[in-house]
Amino acid sequence: MVLVVGTGVGGAIIAMELAKSNIPVTIIEKGPFADVKDSYKYYDEINGYLDLSKTTCVGGSSVVAAGNGVRLLEKELKRYNIDISTELDEVEELIGVHQLDDSHFGEGTKKFMDAAKSIGLSVIKMPKFIREEDCIQCGRCAWGCPNDAKWTSQDFIKIAIENGAELISKSEVTDILTENKVVKGVKIKFSDNSTKTIESDIVVLSAGAINSAIILQRLGLKAGEKLFMDPFVTVGGVLKNINYSNEVTMNALIKGKNFVLAPHYSVIINQNLNDDNIKKEDILSIMIKIPDDNHGKIVNGKVIKENTIKDIRFIAEGAATAGAILVEAGVDPNTITSTHLRGAHPGGTASIGDIVDNNLKTKYEGLYVSDASVIPEAPGAPPIIAILALSKRLSKHLIDKLSN
Ligand SMILES: Cc1cc2nc3c(=O)[nH]c(=O)nc-3n(C[C@H](O)[C@H](O)[C@H](O)COP(=O)(O)OP(=O)(O)OC[C@H]3O[C@@H](n4cnc5c(N)ncnc54)[C@H](O)[C@@H]3O)c2cc1C
Repeated sequence: MVLVVGTGVGGAIIAMELAKSNIPVTIIEKGPFADVKDSYKYYDEINGYLDLSKTTCVGGSSVVAAGNGVRLLEKELKRYNIDISTELDEVEELIGVHQLDDSHFGEGTKKFMDAAKSIGLSVIKMPKFIREEDCIQCGRCAWGCPNDAKWTSQDFIKIAIENGAELISKSEVTDILTENKVVKGVKIKFSDNSTKTIESDIVVLSAGAINSAIILQRLGLKAGEKLFMDPFVTVGGVLKNINYSNEVTMNALIKGKNFVLAPHYSVIINQNLNDDNIKKEDILSIMIKIPDDNHGKIVNGKVIKENTIKDIRFIAEGAATAGAILVEAGVDPNTITSTHLRGAHPGGTASIGDIVDNNLKTKYEGLYVSDASVIPEAPGAPPIIAILALSKRLSKHLIDKLSN
């Protein structure tokens, strides 16, 4: 039996692929199986000065994802003798990545695209894993889609269960059990604090970049260093009655040299403006996201993240470009404000080459890591497709190994 720890992006696809191949799978998940529309209730608390957004529930952070499906890391991973080209193709097909129909572009997004073009920037429609027929264009992707219009890892967990996998939710894996450098199982803690051990000679750790690292540290591995999180700010201002906050979020993309830009509403813009006459419907705003230096670490269960001078330069370059677009789009320049720095793509804490080999195996026989932890460098762009591809590649490796 294979134990999969975590039902997010990295864990769900492995559980599904193994179960479909008739391999017995038990999935252990810390959070509950919640309705996707209630996902916003499962955000973890804010961590220090830099908000690090992630959720604890079945589906992991995929339940609050904006549905952006960007193909990444193909070239970078070749340096580690990993070719994910085939898996990227398979994953894009599996979750239906495509650019949305024109009917799903609102006025704010169109203004963003037109303004960017008119100042000489190259802008594309964002590849999405959202089904137009179900999408009601409400702007609530990151709260949990109210109409199940977006792929989430819950979809794969349901298929895994249909194919015989067992899901144990509301149960936290606290420790990996080993003997003579061979994995033997896991220790889990239930919500009433009782504990139990489950035996298995193959454990796939997919608890996300923060929690997988904490579990690996307890095993004595030097995980939890080199943390990145693709920091971002949202910069915006007033364009009366633009109604962007109700559009499909992040539906267009500009790839700069050191940053990416996408239209994005944040309530923090209204909070900063602090004027009752300015409604959320009056804001046009843009997210600036960068690939940060991996200078974060996890110490005693806490995230410590410093941003380097280079990170700040990249954010400033992106913010300057965003400001030019906003003004060209008609935003009142006297109202432009920014959110503080936040992050939603934690990764790098058990990276390929350091903690896992190119089959995502640790130095413990039978112990694998399959989530954003293994990504060696910050992508600076949405990583779901790359995590899915890496995890699909691992599932093929395990199916091969277990059938021989
Ligand atoms: C608001 C938001 C929007 C985003 N939008 C996009 C997007 O549009 N496109 C994109 O590519 N990326 C997006 N991301 C990033 C993406 O969601 C993450 O990079 C991705 O989910 C990381 O996958 P993972 O497998 O590493 O971790 P997760 O998906 O977070 O999964 C980890 C799972 O492990 C569980 N867990 C944790 N600890 C334990 C434990 N001890 N025992 C058992 N279970 C445990 C968690 O509850 C969770 O289910 C977004 C993130 C956020 C927060």
